[in-house]
Amino acid sequence: MIQVGDVLAAVEGAEVVRRNAEQFGRASVDTRDITGGELFVAIGGPSRDGHDFAAAAVRAGATGVLVSRVVPELLELGVTVVRVPDTLVALQEAAAVARSRSSASVIAVTGSAGKTTAKTLIAQVLQSKFDILANKASFNNHLGVPLTLTAIEPGQSQVISEIGTNHPGEIGHLTGLVSPNVSVVTNVGFAHLGNFASQQELANEKTDIFNHTRPGGTWIVNGDDELLTRTTLGRPGAAAATVVRVGFDEGNDLRAVDVTVDEHGTQGVIEVDGQRLPFSIGAAGRHFGYAAMLAVAVGRVYGIAPAESIEALRGVQPPAGRASLRRIDDELLMIDDSYNGSPDAMIGSLDLLASLPGTVKVAVLGQMGELGQFSEELHSRVGHKAASSVTHLITVGAAAAPLRERAAAEGLTSIGSADSAQEALAQVKSILEGSDEHAVVLAKGSRAVHMERVYLGLAGHQ
Ligand code: ATP
Ligand code: MG
Repeated sequence: MIQVGDVLAAVEGAEVVRRNAEQFGRASVDTRDITGGELFVAIGGPSRDGHDFAAAAVRAGATGVLVSRVVPELLELGVTVVRVPDTLVALQEAAAVARSRSSASVIAVTGSAGKTTAKTLIAQVLQSKFDILANKASFNNHLGVPLTLTAIEPGQSQVISEIGTNHPGEIGHLTGLVSPNVSVVTNVGFAHLGNFASQQELANEKTDIFNHTRPGGTWIVNGDDELLTRTTLGRPGAAAATVVRVGFDEGNDLRAVDVTVDEHGTQGVIEVDGQRLPFSIGAAGRHFGYAAMLAVAVGRVYGIAPAESIEALRGVQPPAGRASLRRIDDELLMIDDSYNGSPDAMIGSLDLLASLPGTVKVAVLGQMGELGQFSEELHSRVGHKAASSVTHLITVGAAAAPLRERAAAEGLTSIGSADSAQEALAQVKSILEGSDEHAVVLAKGSRAVHMERVYLGLAGHQ
């Protein structure tokens, strides 16, 4: 819920031009997302200006508009019109006021890979006991974060908000708006490393979430990530916070052991508080093991016993496009993980490919972007993982050459390259046609490469 008063309290120079509704269910920046009772915020973009859509938003059901210039038509529509110098800044500042007005406890989640996955499993645990709000989709940037905060309803006891970063300083700014009680870092990884000077800088950026977490809060990290753990424990507030480490390695406060992965999901035992608790989730891959442990750790903060959280997670499925398994026929299983092509996600998916039963393991990997000076090194690192995970490798795009070269240097013999997903599909088909073994296919790359075409092509080809 967001109120006219939140805007007036937060934004210097805000002026109510027409006063009608005083409060709104939430803010929205997209006319297609209006269902009734929203405050439409007109954001100016490079190609489109939200002011041109404000009247349409009102016709769709928005009961207020936040603008930086008053479009005359708006004054005739019987809605609240608030003018501010900068609508994006006003949205962020008003969202922070809406959050501070709320008595909800907020859980912020950042990390290179696995934010949405962790958010989904944390929500699954918390909603078994509480009325909660979780951000939509992957809403984790300068718009998504404040939009989520404006949607907090009075009865909700917890809010989960993913926080993303492309550039230094972004985590601190966004976490400042969210003012979390509990913060989670999934990993440091390599995503967007090209915009940072080093991996340590990336770790500093991710763990900046803790500097903006309320004093005495709970900090939850992947304890297998050595750089993350060391940087977290070095943060000034660490001594006053409750730091919880989760992972597969010894020494974690919550630890998964005896983990096995198959087509139907991930099973194992979680050791916590001196107990050994068997778990079984419907999502396959060790990275879901991390998300499950993070969710159990968050549940524990709110008095949900680990055994109850594990029960709530039973059968949980991956979020769409993130490592869902699709069986095409007796011989062919596909890993649908077309959502994202960062190095961390590539390594996670190759790990899943390696852990599944099957004799033929085919990976189609697209070149990775946003890596700047680290591009060659990170492609090579993924090539190293591929060498131990696959029987056949096909890369798409020129920048992926170091990936192929490293895999070849480490002994992989079936290696191809393609200029497009379509071309890669033809190569995959010929590999599968030449074999009657059980095969698993992974295709992964940035959205621009359209790896889903490999899946669609194979799904239609039986
Ligand atoms: P974005 O920054 O795009 O919002 P995200 O951090 O929310 O991404 P997810 O959407 O959860 O991440 O997952 C992105 C990709 O990373 C998927 O391919 C998923 O299978 C993989 N993944 C999820 N968790 C992990 C993990 N802990 N380690 C490595 N890869 C992971
Ligand atoms: Mg996400």
